Amino acid sequence: AAAAPQTSGSGPGRDRLLLLGRVGVADPESLDDYRAHGGYTALRRAFALGPAGVIREVTESGLLGRGGAAFPTGRKWQATAAQPEQPHYLVCNADESEPGTFKDRVLMEGDPFALVEAMTIAGYAIGAHRGFLYLRGEYPRALRRMEHAVAQARARGLLGEDVLGQGYAFDIEIRRGAGAYICGEETALFNSLEGRRGEPRSKPPFPVEKGLFGKPTAANNVETLVNVLPVLTLGAQEYAAIGTGRSTGPKLYCVSGSVERPGVYELPFGATLGELLELAGVRQGLRAVLLGGAAGSFVRPDELDIPLTFEGTREAGTTLGSGVVMAFDDRVPLPRLLLRIARFFREESCGQCVPCRVGTVRQEEALRRLAERTGDAADDIALLREVGRAMRDASICGLGQTAWNAVESAIDRLGAYA
Ligand code: NAD
Ligand code: SF4
Repeated sequence: AAAAPQTSGSGPGRDRLLLLGRVGVADPESLDDYRAHGGYTALRRAFALGPAGVIREVTESGLLGRGGAAFPTGRKWQATAAQPEQPHYLVCNADESEPGTFKDRVLMEGDPFALVEAMTIAGYAIGAHRGFLYLRGEYPRALRRMEHAVAQARARGLLGEDVLGQGYAFDIEIRRGAGAYICGEETALFNSLEGRRGEPRSKPPFPVEKGLFGKPTAANNVETLVNVLPVLTLGAQEYAAIGTGRSTGPKLYCVSGSVERPGVYELPFGATLGELLELAGVRQGLRAVLLGGAAGSFVRPDELDIPLTFEGTREAGTTLGSGVVMAFDDRVPLPRLLLRIARFFREESCGQCVPCRVGTVRQEEALRRLAERTGDAADDIALLREVGRAMRDASICGLGQTAWNAVESAIDRLGAYA
């Protein structure tokens, strides 16, 4: 699905696209065109503010991480910048692999210089001179565009020994992932960059203290970094006025499934799920909507008034995650869909810890019996709950901790096997 930039309604952030504004408008292979469409004004402002000033703006903007976990970006940058140990690293997590997530691909393919500029600002703020872009292996066009943008920026003095003649050295190295979902988990990603097996590390220590090569590292998602550009061009106050008090700014949503116009949509936080689905053209016979991807949870068609904010989805017992909105109509066989989700987690588990390695297998087995009606349904649902609890409570990383979320919500909210 491509970008489908559309806005609706009125209010702060509704009159223009702050993240997708250049996608499909500016030539993604032309640095001059990027500049003609406002590119590199944010970096100039960053140099005027100084590293501490940039972190202050980002903190005051209320920007929360867009990879899915909504951690405050300003706090992450401040904690990294404050570490006495050197060097500091910036890592951009572009290993976008959550099923149904494709917003970062659209940003990198359609506006690659924006990510180069945003990474330069982040590196400057946290005191890093090297940034790594870890890019999903299955994104060949994004890779080509990012490689081209990095080379152009380097050739024009926007990366390298003396960025914009400001005496700041920064460069970006691009590394491709090799198709493992788990390498999107930040510490598994560091291991992969270091040439080790892509297995998550225990946290704490958090990457801000001990990250890539054991050094202080800020790891940020693509969309998070691109948000720093409007934070600096609008100023923290104007940015924070967009969205709600606790979820500020614009958000990208990846809408797919039973809709007329699948694609990436930009809306300020606070729009409702129903409003978004209306923009995408929801089809007749809506049965369920999966929010947050395979690690997220289902909601019913009578819950479309859920506000799309981190706090609103949490209060409604679901999650916004990385912005996945997958619609399913009543032709979709739910038991088969759940089995497919379980297979995904079983295949992608790195196998390092028992609850996840064994739990994802047991979960898939029980769901297969349920789908094929070959066991006792009540026993299998009880087993799923027990296994799910163990995975959630005892797994090392988010994969195992969330592998039961969608199945649980399908049973409890949708009455999947009733
Ligand atoms: P997390 O809550 O452990 O951490 C979120 C971020 O905050 C991390 O960068 C972490 O280092 C940092 N952090 C947390 N506490 C900290 C502290 N006290 N001090 C400093 N830094 C701290 O979550 P996670 O496991 O990194 O990510 C889980 C999320 O990833 C899920 O919500 C899921 O939606 C999302 N996800 C996204 C994709 C995708 O393709 N975008 C794929 C899989 C999962
Ligand atoms: Fe690996 Fe799963 Fe354990 Fe994460 S929870 S470390 S993916 S086995």
